[in-house]
Amino acid sequence: KVVTRFAPSPTGFLHIGGARTALFNWLYARHHGGEFLLRIEDTDRARSTQPAIEAILDSMSWLGLNWDGQTVYQFARASRHAEVANQLLAAGHAYKCYATAEELTALRESQKAAKQPMRYDGRWRDRPESDAPEGAPYVVRIKAPKDGATTIQDQVQGAVTVQNAELDDFVLLRSDGTPTYMLAVVVDDHDMGVTHVIRGDDHLNNAFRQLTVIRGMGWPEPIYAHIPLIHGTDGAKLSKRHGAIGVDSYRDELGILPEALDNYLLRLGWGHGDDEVISREQAVEWFDLAGVGRSPSRFDLKKLENLNGHYLRQAEDNRLADLLAERLEFAVSPEQLDLLRRAMPALKPRAANLNELATSAAFLFRTRPLVLDPAASDLLTAESRALLASAHSKLDALAGWDTESLEEAVRQTAEDAGIKLGQVAQPLRAALTGKKTSPGIFEVLDLLGRDESLGRIADQIT
Ligand code: GLU
Repeated sequence: KVVTRFAPSPTGFLHIGGARTALFNWLYARHHGGEFLLRIEDTDRARSTQPAIEAILDSMSWLGLNWDGQTVYQFARASRHAEVANQLLAAGHAYKCYATAEELTALRESQKAAKQPMRYDGRWRDRPESDAPEGAPYVVRIKAPKDGATTIQDQVQGAVTVQNAELDDFVLLRSDGTPTYMLAVVVDDHDMGVTHVIRGDDHLNNAFRQLTVIRGMGWPEPIYAHIPLIHGTDGAKLSKRHGAIGVDSYRDELGILPEALDNYLLRLGWGHGDDEVISREQAVEWFDLAGVGRSPSRFDLKKLENLNGHYLRQAEDNRLADLLAERLEFAVSPEQLDLLRRAMPALKPRAANLNELATSAAFLFRTRPLVLDPAASDLLTAESRALLASAHSKLDALAGWDTESLEEAVRQTAEDAGIKLGQVAQPLRAALTGKKTSPGIFEVLDLLGRDESLGRIADQIT
């Protein structure tokens, strides 16, 4: 059975790279009918925070990345990590190192001066414990292999080989008995039954070190897939400037729908022919590691917004109205919510995000008399006010307020004045919405209703 996991460190929001890693793990597990687990790597006590944990869980739920079983908290498992370190010690795969901080600093400095790689030199690897002063503090180090090479058949990177001479005897347990991150990851992955480790390729080097622990314990080795990082459109490492903001900001500030972000992240680094719009169901059916590219992908906000526009047009009007109601600055009444819902078919074809949608809906709730945008105000000349008066009397005379009658009245106004329909529509739009652009004028009249429409037009005539 396939078991994947997402293992974020809760030191900040869930960023776009983390979200993509989570998505790939989720899809891989769902594709194979396996399990997707979540582990919060909160061992860095100084930098891990509860708000960050909540932000991560919240963003994952929003993206629809549900996980199986209980959330695992790494810090709570410290005694289990220590237990494994002690087993490695007992089996001779690890050793106690009594080197003092001063000694290690001196070692690093001499290596630095000699331009050698700075790495622990194994000075306690073969030294008897009896050499150490009574009761002296020690750390537990892994006994990494020295000869030969280690190859990982990475599902994305291919075969990657490291000479074992490059591996260091890294610390498993600190002198206060607390486990290091390198140990904790391995123990947790094993205990959680993780079969596939899919994560950012900044962890590829760690995989070789982690394997020494896995082999020392004689545990099954997971299958690794290290996915390339996300870069900005200019190819540089992703920074805030490129959109390296939290997933919650894509929702709250940029007005992106979760299915659009999921689809975009999926396409960022994974491909299925030329398909751009890929539903959740198709993604689960198609996802594989072979489709993950080897080079860094470039994050492009424009592409994300294009996809978002697509999903906005597909989204249910009810849902969009609810989302917009949350974004408006006033408490939306049930009648207003209903109006929003009815306005969606006219508004959603033009918006790339919820902010644009909210802006385009604003005219529905404005209070009379409208204060016109300068560009709209410019449209109201003496001539066009006369057109408004003519339109007003024709609309006022209508028996019904349906699109057909509305269209007829406005056409008649244009015909009487011997001008094109658009020339009547422009001042009407200005009077009705206060703006130069809006949905079709008949839809606007229909949505606002008879009284409000006639009132807004009348306000601009005198
Ligand atoms: N906690 C690590 C990170 O956030 C992930 C470690 C892993 O996936 O093995 O980068």
